[in-house]
Amino acid sequence: MPQSHATTSTQQDEALGETLSRIVGTTHVLVGEDARREYAHDRLPYANFQERHGRLAGVLPRMVVRPGSTDEVRRIVELSRDRKVQLIPYGNGSGVLGGAIPISREVTIDLRRMGSILSLSPQDAMVTVEAGMNGGDFEAALNERGFTCGHLPQSLEISTVGGWAACRGGGQASSRFGKIEDIVLGLKAILPDAAPLDIQPVARRAVGPSIRDLIVGSEGTLGIITELTLRIWKLPEVERGTVLAFPNLRAALDAARDIMQAELRPAVARIYDRVESDERTAGIGVFAENPIMAMFVFSGSKRLMETEEALALEIAEEHGARIAPQGPYEHWKQNRYVAFSQKWQAKGFYNDTIEVTAKWSEIPAMFEKMGKAVRAICPEVHFGAHWSHIYPEGACQYMTIRLPQMDEAEALPMHAAMWDKIQSLTLDHDGSIAHHHGVGVFRNRWLEREMGGGLAVLQQIKDALDPDNLLNPGKVGLRAPKDAVTVGGA
Ligand SMILES: Cc1cc2nc3c(=O)[nH]c(=O)nc-3n(C[C@H](O)[C@H](O)[C@H](O)COP(=O)(O)OP(=O)(O)OC[C@H]3O[C@@H](n4cnc5c(N)ncnc54)[C@H](O)[C@@H]3O)c2cc1C
Repeated sequence: MPQSHATTSTQQDEALGETLSRIVGTTHVLVGEDARREYAHDRLPYANFQERHGRLAGVLPRMVVRPGSTDEVRRIVELSRDRKVQLIPYGNGSGVLGGAIPISREVTIDLRRMGSILSLSPQDAMVTVEAGMNGGDFEAALNERGFTCGHLPQSLEISTVGGWAACRGGGQASSRFGKIEDIVLGLKAILPDAAPLDIQPVARRAVGPSIRDLIVGSEGTLGIITELTLRIWKLPEVERGTVLAFPNLRAALDAARDIMQAELRPAVARIYDRVESDERTAGIGVFAENPIMAMFVFSGSKRLMETEEALALEIAEEHGARIAPQGPYEHWKQNRYVAFSQKWQAKGFYNDTIEVTAKWSEIPAMFEKMGKAVRAICPEVHFGAHWSHIYPEGACQYMTIRLPQMDEAEALPMHAAMWDKIQSLTLDHDGSIAHHHGVGVFRNRWLEREMGGGLAVLQQIKDALDPDNLLNPGKVGLRAPKDAVTVGGA
């Protein structure tokens, strides 16, 4: 950069920092390189691979600002609108698709100071919470008052409530309580022109298309969520898990489908492929002949739970299931919020996870083709899958791909090729490329095929709401600024 430009840009940054300090206080504007570096990545594995070699997948944020109230967020967005400053909302950086990674000259807006429950109505079964509240703290506070919100992602303790809604996430109990889009009743957000959006929580409405659903899943591109009102449930009277051993994967998937189509709603359902079953069942006799492991947890009032469980187990038995010892369920319960992927990454493996949605009728053939495709790219790859969000129509297939420790020049193209094969095969089988992790920046290249004409509609909405492309530009398949760096890709 020529000296005069660099000086101008430094002066502009100083002026911006001073104005932001007047809004949030000096201690809540971070300009130092170390602090900015912490916000230069989320948990996108590709970014991790780059950082092992001292490189960033994107760029450093211009600075970081930490508002403490909806009004401060509004004033920051007003400033962004007037001075054409790009902004990225940041929850807790647990996203795995690079949604919070700066790619241009964005200021990161960290919402974690906004971390309180504002009200709880047992009568209406609703809770209102600030967007930056940590998910684990939120669920614990609800539990103390005898409630749960039913959204329990593996990342519960490392994510925020606002991040759940922004990414359209799914928790481990989604088969019973739904994904976050089924749980969010109302929200407050600041739009790119700084106008407040206030969607009152009600059970249902019929007043045109749902604006709430435009914000949920928009990953910070259409508005900054500051408050959410979520559905809550009384903590269950009882909860019981059963481990099952199936003769083959097809039988386990068919049982899961029949359980959902029989209108039963397990709190947790998990079916593991042969690779992931073997990892969990070594030495347990029943799995010698029935090698596929599944787990169903039913919860609620005792009578209802026992009836649902009995009906589900009848269906499972019709598909050849046998009851197995409880050990794998206990292990899962103890580790349900523990992340293992970073352990592999720290050792130099290329570990990544990809979740897709498909119809029951397509899953077996799609899964087989995916296995063959990734093994053709690298015969030594670890490739395993489970299905842990199940619906009457289909399920989320959650896959782990792990390339061995190897030279990155060899590994990165293989990693990119595997992503491409898995996403393309999902679309070939009429599925969706993402069930709950979102798009971020890493999935941009498949969005046109996924959404068809819908992507142009989304771009028009973005252009209308954010004509200067200031709010998390270049994410969710939307147009990137001219100077943006490209993240990922073969
Ligand atoms: C080990 C591990 C396990 C995971 N398990 C699950 C799982 O079970 N289910 C699941 O759904 N996801 C899971 N994830 C992914 C991730 O935790 C979720 O996407 C989570 O919802 C992100 O929340 P966050 O607060 O960390 O958001 P961030 O990562 O900070 O941000 C994610 C995106 O949302 C935007 N954003 C954040 N807050 C706001 C806001 N208030 N307003 C507008 N935009 C905002 C950001 O700009 C970014 O685009 C997992 C991740 C890891 C690392």
